[in-house]
Amino acid sequence: MASKPCGVCKILKITCEPTCVCKPHFPSGSTRIQDVHQIFGAVNVHKILNSLGAAEREIAANSLCYAAEARRRDPIHGVHGMILHYQSILNDLEKDIIAAMNTLATTVGSDQVPKYFDIPIPNDFLATPASLDSYIEKIKSLTTVEKNQLMQFWKRADGASSSAGPSTALGEKYQ
Ligand SMILES: [Zn+2]
Repeated sequence: MASKPCGVCKILKITCEPTCVCKPHFPSGSTRIQDVHQIFGAVNVHKILNSLGAAEREIAANSLCYAAEARRRDPIHGVHGMILHYQSILNDLEKDIIAAMNTLATTVGSDQVPKYFDIPIPNDFLATPASLDSYIEKIKSLTTVEKNQLMQFWKRADGASSSAGPSTALGEKYQ
């Protein structure tokens, strides 16, 4: 066909059909495939995307990009290194929230201290192309209030399966 092959088909030197499932995620001219190919191999990317339904392909492609970039940056820990990094950010945020709540409690009274927030998760969060820089920049660009809201969301999600809810857990520490 006349149009240029997608990144995966180009590496594999195969014909990129109009129905190629890799094309939307690794279009011609995009450099996204480079890290992914180096870490997972274009053959495996092709296999994985072909084995999935349309709804899962974008998530899988973004996950592969994310994991490959993390592995390139941190060959030892890969994505786990990022988890530790974000866990550290979350721990700092939790300390900030507890300190702020304590300050609020002494200023306006403990009954006026908000126990939780509504969470402004961006609608395009999952669809954002996987780039550690973009995620880090996105988190850095949040206001303090938004960071606190995000923190509450993660705690709620994390606490959903436990008997003590996240706001309860925070409330206990806040006491
Ligand atoms: Zn293709």
